[in-house]
Amino acid sequence: MQIIEIYRSIQGESSFAGVPCIFVRLATCNLRCVWCDSEYTFSGGKKLTADEVEGEVLRLSSGGLLEFTGGEPMLQERELAPLMERLLHRGFTLLLETSGERPLERVPKAVHKIVDVKCPGSGEGGSFRMSNLETLTPKDEVKFVLMDRNDYEFARDFTRQHGLEEKVNSVIFSPAFRKIPSAERDSTNCHLDPCCLAAWILADNLNVRLGLQIHKFIWEPAMKGV
Ligand code: SF4
Repeated sequence: MQIIEIYRSIQGESSFAGVPCIFVRLATCNLRCVWCDSEYTFSGGKKLTADEVEGEVLRLSSGGLLEFTGGEPMLQERELAPLMERLLHRGFTLLLETSGERPLERVPKAVHKIVDVKCPGSGEGGSFRMSNLETLTPKDEVKFVLMDRNDYEFARDFTRQHGLEEKVNSVIFSPAFRKIPSAERDSTNCHLDPCCLAAWILADNLNVRLGLQIHKFIWEPAMKGV
C-alpha cells in the first residue's frame, strides 16, 4: 500500500469530532478539488504491506477509533478492504473518508463511511457515483463542503431529493477552508462564514450538522499530521 502517514490525533470532523483517533493517510487522488488541503498526498509516500500498516497502528493503540483517509483511500481498495476486515476483527471502530467517486460496495458493513458529495464550487461537481447512495447505512455520514450560497443550495436540494436526513447518521454541511490559511485559528479562514451557513440551515429547517474542521481551530490551520 502507498501510505503518506500514520499518526494519532484528535478527530476533527464528523459526528466523531473531538475523539482521539489514529489516522492512516493513503497516497494519491484522482480528483482535484480547488480547496483541497491534502495536495501533499498526490504523490510520494512509502510502500508498506498491509501487515506493516497494521503493525504501526497497533504500536499507536490497541483499539479505539481509526480513520482511513487520503488522498482517496478507495483507489487502493484491493488491499484496503481486507485490512479493514482485520482491524474490525481486532475491535477498532473504523471510519473511511472518501470522495464518493469510487465504488463503495466492497467496504465492510461495519465501517462508518464518511462520503463526500462534491459541490459545483469544488470544481469536481458531478463526480459523485450515484450508485453509492445504495451502499449508505444509518451509521454513515454524507458531507458537503461549501464555498458559497450556490453550493449550499446544491447540497440542500441533493439532501432533500435523496432523503439523506432520514437515511444516514449525519448530513454534514461544512464551510470550505482557505487553501492557504492565515495563522489565525478562527473562522476568517472559511470561504463561507459559518454564521451565515447556520442562518441558512435554520431558515430552511434542515436536519443537518454544521461541521467545522476543529483541528484547524485547535492547531495552526496549515499544520499537517494533526
Ligand atoms: S477528493 Fe479529497 S484529496 Fe482528492 S482532491 Fe478532493 S479534497 Fe483533495
